[in-house]
Amino acid sequence: MKITIVYDNYILNEYKGLKSSMGFSCFIQTQSNNLLFDTGWDGDMLLTNMKLLGIDYQDTDIIFISHNHGDHEGGLARYLTLNPNPKIFVPKSFYKNLLNRLGPQQTELRKKVYAVEKSVQICRNIFSTGEIEGIFIPKEENQKILIKEQSLIIKSRKGVIVIVGCGHSGIGNILNSANDIGKVYALIGGFHDFQEYELLNTLTINMLNDFSGFLKFAALKSSGKGGIPLIVPTHCTRHRKEIFSLFPNNSEKGGVGYELVIDENEI
Ligand SMILES: [Zn+2]
Ligand SMILES: [Zn+2]
Repeated sequence: MKITIVYDNYILNEYKGLKSSMGFSCFIQTQSNNLLFDTGWDGDMLLTNMKLLGIDYQDTDIIFISHNHGDHEGGLARYLTLNPNPKIFVPKSFYKNLLNRLGPQQTELRKKVYAVEKSVQICRNIFSTGEIEGIFIPKEENQKILIKEQSLIIKSRKGVIVIVGCGHSGIGNILNSANDIGKVYALIGGFHDFQEYELLNTLTINMLNDFSGFLKFAALKSSGKGGIPLIVPTHCTRHRKEIFSLFPNNSEKGGVGYELVIDENEI
């Protein structure tokens, strides 16, 4: 299985002519399915990056949209004009809006859109956390806006890989939901304003349902040891530097061109 970041605020491999821009998307290739997670803002940039990374956009079975923000679903319309074949899984809160955008004539395309509310299996070894409500505070405004977001959970023998769009749902809530499927191996994507770093420690995650101040303190002290084996904070993550310095051995820089390969025997 291979996960490739194809759209991001950062670039990992400058030499290939890849472009970066505000937004996020990654392509997940497994033995049974190819899934596009989000589409970034600009569909053409997404398609160019995919091509440069050797990914054929026609070879997509599923599109998974994390939430109704332009930097995650902006490229969807362009993508669908070139490849209208994939099934599309969107949060229920985005479903009507998307159907309206597609328009009444697009009958075949409309049939392929699925509204996700609760945690659900998307395809073999791949799940959605379901919609989790969170808060979004736009830079220019002070008011808090409620937004629902779904995250992706991939089962592997190494543990569960969690892919997050913007992290509006709260990383703690997302990890808690992922923990229902299995022990978390990797956390990849946008963590937004996330600062509860102790949650990245496995001990704390396992105790989330039965949380006490003492356990939280113990987990903080042992952070770095026994934590999530792979943390890739990218896209909108505001406190990337803090995460890299707190978890120097188990965090990696994301960006367009980032690849995580897991042996199929480990899936
Ligand atoms: Zn975002
Ligand atoms: Zn967002």
